[in-house]
Amino acid sequence: MQPRSLDDALAVRAQRPDAVVVAGGTGVLVELNRGLDVPALLDLSRVAELRESTTVDDGAAVRLGATTTYTDVLEHHAAALPGLAAAARTVASRQVRNRATLAGALVLGDPSGDALAALGAADATVEVAGPHGIRHVVASAFVTGPGACDLGPDELVTALIVPVADGPTAYAKAGARNAMARAVCAVAIELHPVARTATVCVVGAAPTAIRPGTAEALVADAWDELDDRVLRRFGALVAEAVDPLPDARGSSGYRRHAAGVLATRALDRAWDAL
Ligand SMILES: Cc1cc2nc3c(=O)[nH]c(=O)nc-3n(C[C@H](O)[C@H](O)[C@H](O)COP(=O)(O)OP(=O)(O)OC[C@H]3O[C@@H](n4cnc5c(N)ncnc54)[C@H](O)[C@@H]3O)c2cc1C
Repeated sequence: MQPRSLDDALAVRAQRPDAVVVAGGTGVLVELNRGLDVPALLDLSRVAELRESTTVDDGAAVRLGATTTYTDVLEHHAAALPGLAAAARTVASRQVRNRATLAGALVLGDPSGDALAALGAADATVEVAGPHGIRHVVASAFVTGPGACDLGPDELVTALIVPVADGPTAYAKAGARNAMARAVCAVAIELHPVARTATVCVVGAAPTAIRPGTAEALVADAWDELDDRVLRRFGALVAEAVDPLPDARGSSGYRRHAAGVLATRALDRAWDAL
């Protein structure tokens, strides 16, 4: 099924909750190749409204349509959303980035997703539409566990609303190698010089994304005296805040250690850019 308007896509979604939604297909096609039996596909790629991006909130945020790809972010939004662009640059290969959508990554429920980290640190929200209207979910809370997210069977993600960066951002990722590798652990950080605060999101170190509140508070408290001691304390607080599960790519001990090291590195880089 290939609806041409958002209204039609939502109508099909409500009538056929058994149909598998496909955007860029980089997740769904892997499952089809593994033999997943799908009664029908609901292809969003022809819905023009879902490709549109606009500035909202008097220029304070960018509303990215749900079929925005990593390449779209790099080509059109790197200046306004540098944290998201930095994360997008580390995703897979150019071919995958050309197809893969940010919304698709969130719905896949990957708790180590690069987009999830950057959207979390940016305080982005996920716009969800369904038969009962539109609702918004904080991006860092959208993935509710491995393979799970806050989306009903009759709902679609329609957009991501991402505040424009108002200070330096940094993204630090550890993977099995430097390209074509999902994060074992990653930390995104945004500094807000006017408010003198930091927003931080860690992925790959718990079944969900983590916003380490005590570490964020430390940066606000130590804003005028950020030195090596504070950097180390920040890393330690991030490592304390995570709750890693072991898997083939990393033990829980390794992930906790990596979270602390990456957090220190990311804050150091962002601070240098102030
Ligand atoms: C080779 C390879 C390397 C990768 N490397 C990385 C990496 O380094 N870092 C990383 O973070 N990720 C990585 N990924 C994962 C990639 O980010 C996701 O596969 C991709 O973003 C999913 O987007 P898509 O548009 O292709 O989704 P699709 O495959 O089209 O859909 C994925 C899921 O989302 C649902 N869906 C999609 N859009 C919507 C919507 N608007 N509303 C409701 N449901 C929707 C689909 O039903 C499906 O369940 C990699 C994937 C591959 C294949």
